[in-house]
Amino acid sequence: MGEAVFKGYVMKNKKGFTLIEVILVITIIGLLVSVLLPAYFLTINKADQALCLSFRKHVQLKIVEFELQSNKSISETNFTKILIELKLECPEGGRYTLESNGEIKCNKHSEEEQNPVDYLVKDWMIYST
Ligand SMILES: [Zn+2]
Repeated sequence: MGEAVFKGYVMKNKKGFTLIEVILVITIIGLLVSVLLPAYFLTINKADQALCLSFRKHVQLKIVEFELQSNKSISETNFTKILIELKLECPEGGRYTLESNGEIKCNKHSEEEQNPVDYLVKDWMIYST
């Protein structure tokens, strides 16, 4: 009799997992996802931002090259031509615009950008003058 109960217990356990075990596993997976997913998207976002900045610096160099060769400042048409020629565009679909100071802005990334090197240089310029 006792053996039969024991066998029954073993058989029952071999059929699958209990509800508690399933809930526990789902909870742990959910917890892991909720911790890792935001970090993952933040990393993707930072990578896109860095890539965008790198593209804009590249376009900026090309503009300097153009201006030195043609000996005149770049027009909006030539700026567009350079963008098309280089095939560089914001990885998140932002639009590049040429500022009057020669800087290239991206409507998706320029505002949130905080270049620590630029700030250091600005600080240094303030303190050194
Ligand atoms: Zn961008």
